[in-house]
Amino acid sequence: EAVVNRIAAGEIVLAPSSALKEMLENSIDAGASSIDVACKDGGLKLLQITDNGSGIAKEDLAIVCERFTTSKLRKFEDLQHISTYGFRGEALASISHIAHLSVITKTADDSCAWKCLYKAGKVDPPLSQPQAVAGKDGTTITVEDLFFNFPSRLNSLRSPSEEYAKILDVVSRYAVHTTGVGFTCKKYGTTANDITIRANVTQKERIRAIYGSSVASDLLEFSVEPEPSFGLSKCSGYVTNVNFDNKKSIAPIFFINGRLVTCDPLRRALQQTYNSYLPKGHKPFVYLSLELDSTNVDVNVHPTKREVRFLFEDEIVDHISAKLAEVLSNVDV
Ligand code: ADP
Ligand code: MG
Repeated sequence: EAVVNRIAAGEIVLAPSSALKEMLENSIDAGASSIDVACKDGGLKLLQITDNGSGIAKEDLAIVCERFTTSKLRKFEDLQHISTYGFRGEALASISHIAHLSVITKTADDSCAWKCLYKAGKVDPPLSQPQAVAGKDGTTITVEDLFFNFPSRLNSLRSPSEEYAKILDVVSRYAVHTTGVGFTCKKYGTTANDITIRANVTQKERIRAIYGSSVASDLLEFSVEPEPSFGLSKCSGYVTNVNFDNKKSIAPIFFINGRLVTCDPLRRALQQTYNSYLPKGHKPFVYLSLELDSTNVDVNVHPTKREVRFLFEDEIVDHISAKLAEVLSNVDV
């Protein structure tokens, strides 16, 4: 097996939490309303995600782990209007190069579920057929021994408990954003969930359940007027007010066009705005969901698709921070 594939895979999958992010996005793309995550050793020994989404057709199982296999691009023009999270068909392929991967899946049309094992982009053993197994509609993906053939990466990772914290962080962010979908996350083999969010729970309740009642009690609904000339059609979410006195910092949660992203210019601008309203040392909570003209967004900056660049970045960042300043200055202290 070519080392180059393994290295390329390592560019996409940096840690168990980045594999999980890709799999969560796949489950959401598949229309799941329930997503359950279980991990052993911070996801390094085992990372399992079960959803009740559309499932994968049996005929497609042979190829889902080949690079550039995606069911999400029908034609070239789709590239300009990507509404689903994934579109490159690289996530499962990558994972199969650096872990032991198995998929159990059932579509509503199938009378049973099908199971396949994968190695280095192909079914394993080579040319084997899917195996009939019992299972509900939806998909379970199990990743075992991540980076087993990538010792340098294994050595550079944090402890299992820190890797698990990163997993909880990713699940938390998706759970806040993705209303209509229920999430659980736990350590494999235990009964107690570390995260439980039911599908019908409101966004504010999601924030309360995950980040605590002190965050929730100081939350303000936040929304910014659309600015079509900058390609901004929506920006809304929740921010804490100036009474909020949490000392623990929670990195701001940004979703752009439904993708969990980081955006340093926006993060810095909002922090600066807060600095002139919040008592020193107080750490705000920020969750914002932006809808931008997809032709303005460059999601290709980095293979992990986290740090996003977009047109009119300065204008949009200024527009949002001005609104935050206005909202914060109107809060009764
Ligand atoms: P992409 O998401 O970019 O298409 P992935 O490697 O993440 O590529 O997934 C490859 C394909 O496998 C997807 O296009 C989809 O058809 C299928 N797939 C992966 N995960 C799921 C899932 N949880 N439910 C249904 N289909 C899935
Ligand atoms: Mg994907």
